Amino acid sequence: MSGVMHDYMEQYLRQLIPDREGILKELEEYAEKNAVPIIQKESGKFLELMVSITKPKRILELGTAIGYSSIMMAEALDGNVHIDTIERDENMIEQAKKNIEKYGFKDNITVLSGDCLEVLQSLNGKYDFIFMDAGKGHYNHFHPHCMSLLSDDGIIVADNVLFRGMVASKDLVKRRKITIVKRMKSYLEMVSEDDNLITSVIPMGDGISVTKRRKN
Ligand code: SAH
Ligand code: MG
Repeated sequence: MSGVMHDYMEQYLRQLIPDREGILKELEEYAEKNAVPIIQKESGKFLELMVSITKPKRILELGTAIGYSSIMMAEALDGNVHIDTIERDENMIEQAKKNIEKYGFKDNITVLSGDCLEVLQSLNGKYDFIFMDAGKGHYNHFHPHCMSLLSDDGIIVADNVLFRGMVASKDLVKRRKITIVKRMKSYLEMVSEDDNLITSVIPMGDGISVTKRRKN
């Protein structure tokens, strides 16, 4: 059970989405075998739709893992994009770089190694799309940095914001997750209550939020 959506609904929505082929299928199979937490099927489709609509030229991703979501976005944009993606796990970085090279996206995707908070502070320039998918207990700390790096019209998509439902229901909270849940709630309140921002939280997958500036 995901704790976010009813199981019957999640299963129904998932089976509507055709299986991927080629690169992404291989990566999905690898992730499943090796318990790498890549984006869920329906959330992945949503992300693909968002980049297809907004056509960003520069994307910033927090959390590369094996490069699945980066490669998916680069493919969705036919390679007309540059993606900077941050990852701190050496083993993941190595695999992501291999996959990115193997599938021909070396010129499109740059893996930045280090902790998101540190790397965020070292970046310049503006991104028109930011995908937050790392360090679930730190979205509230990443947020101000992401806002400084976001172009006027840019959007921020954040994954796992409902954290298996724990963010919305005390009954689901596991003791060890109390801090993550508190901080995630603080993130959602931050982006929802700020008059300068417009945010929608969608109970899909593990919960996704979409944020943009209200005015430029
Ligand atoms: N976006 C990927 C999945 C990312 S999983 C996809 O959908 O294909 C989250 C990744 O973030 C993990 O690989 C983990 O090692 C990394 N991570 C977690 N906290 C981090 C932090 N504070 N800084 C950098 N990377 C982090
Ligand atoms: Mg995720």
